[in-house]
Amino acid sequence: MAFKKVTHVLFDLDGLLIDSEVLYTQMFTAVCAKYNKEFTWELKKSLLGFQGHECAEKITKTLDIPLSIEEFMKLCQKECEVLFPKVQLMPGAKKLVEHLHSKGVPIALATSSSKESVDLKMKNFPEFLGLFQHLTMGSTDPEVTKGKPDPAIFLVCASRFPDKPKAEDCLVFEDAVNGMKAAINANMQVVVVPDPRIPAEDLKGATLVLKSLEEFKPEAFGLPSFD
Ligand SMILES: [Mg+2]
Repeated sequence: MAFKKVTHVLFDLDGLLIDSEVLYTQMFTAVCAKYNKEFTWELKKSLLGFQGHECAEKITKTLDIPLSIEEFMKLCQKECEVLFPKVQLMPGAKKLVEHLHSKGVPIALATSSSKESVDLKMKNFPEFLGLFQHLTMGSTDPEVTKGKPDPAIFLVCASRFPDKPKAEDCLVFEDAVNGMKAAINANMQVVVVPDPRIPAEDLKGATLVLKSLEEFKPEAFGLPSFD
């Protein structure tokens, strides 16, 4: 199958470049347990790609937890200060990002996370983070008015490259269904590296589905190949 050539690449962060989704699960599980509620995979799945306050709203409503969104988020913050600095890069993430950077391909990060959360999670990887031309962090970015599956985050992120690429010249990497939909809604091609529990039928709109970033062949999208 042939794909359309691209010039710019946008990366999701959580669950795609870093193995953080498991930490979010631990964080929400711990906070919900304080109220004797179970944070299920069904609920977790529905949150992927959401901004922080959207997660808090959905969880407190769905599980009937007697906290305001702010109170819930404060408890989460406490948990993640301990959990997040332990995060690891996903297999193939470093190799791919370093490769595209070394070949001069413009790359950027488009994450629904807040700046504080990205700072905590990337504490041990400053050089890696420095390879991206710019970072769009949805939860604390006033221009990103809605979370994924709204296309705002990818459109805002693309607009921040100095040469302002067209949507069709951008390739998105995502791990979540909401993120995939956001990319499609932005009219961009999207490579999805999903959690293996996500059923294939949920990923129908993806341009390409991979088991790992290690499988990605840049030349398939007109990008410089690995030497
Ligand atoms: Mg993600």
